[in-house]
Amino acid sequence: MKKEAIITLPNPHLRQKSVRVSPHSESTAKLVADMTSAALDWEDSRPHEISAALAAVQIDTLERVVIIRSDFDDKAHREFTVLINPEIIKYEGDVVADYEGCLSIKNVYGKVPRHTKIRVKALSEDGSEVRLKAEGFLARVIQHEIDHTNGIVFIDHIQDQPDAFFTLDDSGELQPLDYDTVIKDNDELWA
Ligand SMILES: [Zn+2]
Repeated sequence: MKKEAIITLPNPHLRQKSVRVSPHSESTAKLVADMTSAALDWEDSRPHEISAALAAVQIDTLERVVIIRSDFDDKAHREFTVLINPEIIKYEGDVVADYEGCLSIKNVYGKVPRHTKIRVKALSEDGSEVRLKAEGFLARVIQHEIDHTNGIVFIDHIQDQPDAFFTLDDSGELQPLDYDTVIKDNDELWA
């Protein structure tokens, strides 16, 4: 699947809840393959970013499936971990704001408060139960993706925070976005 299959705001499906799915079905395997190819095709078009993760809703399939990059630091490592019906069962650690972007929100980045540690329950592709502890960037990414399965995008957490919005310039540096002119009344973001 190509990057053009990735939906972006203001597509209203991004604010709808996804449904639980059964693992080890042919349709789930096909979905995971489509998500992976779309995420990698997107990455191949971006000089300064990696596809850290993707939720099924982002290819317009409202099912609780997310893929998380196995190694965030190595672009050559193009494998993902699949989490089916993932849920956070415990929040731990502090709440820290850090930068996030989203393949479904063009040219807007944000400094989003998230818990630094979480415990997650999910199913793997073969249907076995997975329990994992995550911290740091991985915990952030998983919270972002599970939000997608619940119809929440990262900007919803910072909607009224004028200093939390950024864009990426041509050299890959984050630059502040003017909240009043670009963000606050932007129907594409909040419709
Ligand atoms: Zn996202």
